Amino acid sequence: TINGSSESKTPHDKLLGGLLTADFDERSCVSRYYQSSLYRKPSPYKPSQYLISKLRSYEKLHKRCGPGTDAYKEATKNLGHDDENYANKHVGECKYIVWVAVYGLGNRILTIASVFLYALLTDRVVLVDQSKDMSDLFCEPFPGTSWLLPNDFPLTKHFDGYGRGYSRCYGTMLNNHAISANSTPRHLYLDILHDSRDEDKMFFCQKDQTMIDKVPWLVFKTNVYFVPSLWFNPTLRPELMKLFPQKEAVFHHLARYLFHPTNQVWGMITRYHKAHLARADETLGIQIRVFADRAGYFQHVMDQILSCTQREKLLPQVVTQEESKVNVSTNQKLKAVLVTSLYPEYADRLKNMFWERPSSTGEIIEVYQPSGERVQQTDKKIHDQKALAEMYLLSLTDNIVTSARSTFGYVAHSLGGLKPWLLYQPKDLTAPDPPCIRSTSIDPCHLTPPSHGCDADWGTYSGKVVPFVRDCEDREHDGIKLF
Ligand code: GDP
Repeated sequence: TINGSSESKTPHDKLLGGLLTADFDERSCVSRYYQSSLYRKPSPYKPSQYLISKLRSYEKLHKRCGPGTDAYKEATKNLGHDDENYANKHVGECKYIVWVAVYGLGNRILTIASVFLYALLTDRVVLVDQSKDMSDLFCEPFPGTSWLLPNDFPLTKHFDGYGRGYSRCYGTMLNNHAISANSTPRHLYLDILHDSRDEDKMFFCQKDQTMIDKVPWLVFKTNVYFVPSLWFNPTLRPELMKLFPQKEAVFHHLARYLFHPTNQVWGMITRYHKAHLARADETLGIQIRVFADRAGYFQHVMDQILSCTQREKLLPQVVTQEESKVNVSTNQKLKAVLVTSLYPEYADRLKNMFWERPSSTGEIIEVYQPSGERVQQTDKKIHDQKALAEMYLLSLTDNIVTSARSTFGYVAHSLGGLKPWLLYQPKDLTAPDPPCIRSTSIDPCHLTPPSHGCDADWGTYSGKVVPFVRDCEDREHDGIKLF
């Protein structure tokens, strides 16, 4: 728990069971070490020794190949110029992945974790495009080096033009029969988006990886958590199983390793926590994402939230004063509800409901919502910082209700090691019945996985071909997750 008494009893596992390196200065990023374990219960998921050793060797690799090193200079020399193929030309000892920021912050966090795992599996170094506000959000994750792609990286000015029409787009090259064993390009663009073509998603197949593996620079634009589809590849599978014997904890571990909010964001998180959540006996997070043309307040969404939380006994019913049997002098339990949404109306109604009438259990329900930004403003610094602070605050709650197919919600529950209650996506402006379902695992859903298999399995849905995955509860037949 988070209250003072147990704080002193539980020794802080500063390094999260060995997941984190001790090689950082604590003050430069206070969220990294014991600070965050003050706010979070110890995780029931322990990282494997193999994952720990793999992370330590990745840190060495990143230091050797990262920005400013001779290896980096060699790898970037003439990149983008004599680009056709490098045949036998020496381009250095290091291979890289460049992650380009696209879509909202939840998408970005899930995809950084995905490319990082792919990098771990293929001995590559991950560099993140810093043209967006990454360094205002996250501390550096690897000691003695940087994960930010230098501003003078030769391909950066072309990133905006990277898409399916680009001649170095992997799916396009497949379509044009431009792949051959004796010419390896120095860079490839990988398009792993929700609406990518089957050809682009061939990236996950074993045969395709043989060629891709040789390319020194891979530039990714992706908005989906593609970790479950890495299990497609039989050569990667044994390694994945060694790294993550508890398969559903992949993102949970990677996120706690990679994403440490900057001191500024950490201040927002801790001030809010102390002011509103720390004193509660129990906390409930409710993440409300409305995917609709004219999104905002909808009565059917409000009805759905109430019916889910009351059915699942996450919130009590309200009764009349006369029905209220609770003796006011008894010690009443305090439950804090943290609502996050672009719209303030949901939390306002919930708050009024529990103020105007007593709860059937006698519990005192407090409702809080940190921000109500109304519209998504990705790449505006303070907006993104609030979004990160809210995902993080949600991850600290005891129970969590999230909205179907929202990556914002996926990050929150998985970071927290929580199995969420998933609110089904409403259809035709009515509250679904049942309103929600308890997730079977803590790992996020890979929305829009390949709809095809590889080779012999061609045409078969991923959920049937990839081992250790099942259909996502919130996205039938178009989403798979590890369990
Ligand atoms: P998704 O679209 O639900 O998958 O989540 P993303 O995080 O990728 O994109 C939605 C973006 O809208 C967020 O990154 C925020 O910028 C904004 N947003 C959506 N919901 C919330 C919320 O509850 N709180 C805050 N602060 N921002 C939100």
